[in-house]
Amino acid sequence: MSSSYDAIVVGGGPAGSTISALLARSGRSVVVLEKEKFPRFHVGESLLPYGLPILERIGVLDKVRKAGFQEKYGAYFWNEANGGIRPVVFADAADDRHPMAYQVKRADFDALLLGHAREMGAEIREQTDVREVLFENGRAVGIRAASSGGAPFELRGRVVVDATGQDAFLSRKLGTRRFDKKLKRASLFAHFENVPRPEGREAGDILLPVENGVWYWIIPFSDGSSSVGAVFDPVEARSGPEGETLDQRFERIVQRSGRMRELLGGGRRTTPVRGISDYSATSVRFRGDGWAMIGDAAAFLDPVFSTGVFLAMATGERAAHDIERALLTHGRVDASDLASYERYARTLFRRFRRFVYAFYDPVFFEAFCSEAPFDKIRAAVTTTLAGGVEQVPLSSKIWTSLMFLGVGFDRFRRRIGLGPKPEEAVSA
Ligand SMILES: Cc1cc2nc3c(=O)[nH]c(=O)nc-3n(C[C@H](O)[C@H](O)[C@H](O)COP(=O)(O)OP(=O)(O)OC[C@H]3O[C@@H](n4cnc5c(N)ncnc54)[C@H](O)[C@@H]3O)c2cc1C
Repeated sequence: MSSSYDAIVVGGGPAGSTISALLARSGRSVVVLEKEKFPRFHVGESLLPYGLPILERIGVLDKVRKAGFQEKYGAYFWNEANGGIRPVVFADAADDRHPMAYQVKRADFDALLLGHAREMGAEIREQTDVREVLFENGRAVGIRAASSGGAPFELRGRVVVDATGQDAFLSRKLGTRRFDKKLKRASLFAHFENVPRPEGREAGDILLPVENGVWYWIIPFSDGSSSVGAVFDPVEARSGPEGETLDQRFERIVQRSGRMRELLGGGRRTTPVRGISDYSATSVRFRGDGWAMIGDAAAFLDPVFSTGVFLAMATGERAAHDIERALLTHGRVDASDLASYERYARTLFRRFRRFVYAFYDPVFFEAFCSEAPFDKIRAAVTTTLAGGVEQVPLSSKIWTSLMFLGVGFDRFRRRIGLGPKPEEAVSA
């Protein structure tokens, strides 16, 4: 077992597994240090269609297809403020080559991806907590970590990749993490059984009722169980009675929604309620001499459009490409080698973030949940919601911009009293 590697990857979620599988497949020596023992629970269970080509390029898509995950062909939003609905059917996107994705229990999905990285040649060390990134003259040269029950040890690497998810290990240490005040949310969730689902292809849709400032999700799994969650302003969490437990808080927030009461009427919770901060955040830098950040560790975006795993894999893939090129060219990875990676990653986050901000705008959400005036606009929006943010055709850019212009005009009209005030369905 070597103690010096081409790449040290901290974190074995989708971002870490993607980058390690690709670098190891190129013949690089890679070690993944993961603090948990897999399989482990993780939130974030609804995938996007455009993630599938990435899984294919990593070489793991066949294994994912054979794993029997629930097929997902779309999403279904309810605006309970005015009865509006928006079915999103991925097959109706501008590019219809990506009609489906999967709903996955992350314990299984992440273990499959990490196992694939191992098969590609990466060394995986679970239950190993990275405590420090070692710097010499401003360059990252390794890490200090401890395995459960063991003494601390050091490893050296030509590049250290932070894929620690919302722990955002390196950006917290470097003080580069910035929170997005517009997207300050909290979340509670659990797994249920006996939640009814539609028949046919819609059986796998993610359901998203939005009511009284809270949005909810129901994600159906192939074993008949479902993931149920609520995302809300953190103030909401504090508005319950003193001494309220997580279970009681979850119950209170779910009971506030008529739609959720109806959908969960015969359902039974089968796991403890878990909670996580949902506060969108970005590091001001994604790269430096000898280091890179990928996935949530670089930027975490409010999960309303299920973008996180796609972004984790997309940034992992692109960083792998640029790191491999740098190692081939001069045997080390400088900050400048990752400039195009950072530009690419920020473009993807920005394209999704525009829609996330819009979701929390009542005028936009009202328009979103009403019949789209043009099929072209609906197709362009569906493409983005399917994850089509890497290469956006000019026509989609134009239709999307026209839609945002239209919503902006409507907002202005209402502000000067020429239309009804929108019902506030969800507020950031
Ligand atoms: C409420 C909520 C709902 C969501 N819903 C969705 C959804 O439906 N679809 C979707 O695509 N995304 C969703 N997401 C986002 C999704 O969970 C993440 O974007 C995704 O998991 C990011 O992958 P990652 O590999 O970057 O990080 P993670 O999956 O978080 O993996 C990071 C890994 O690093 C390990 N680690 C952390 N610190 C250390 C350390 N110091 N040493 C060693 N190991 C360490 C952790 O144990 C973990 O295994 C949701 C997020 C939230 C909060």
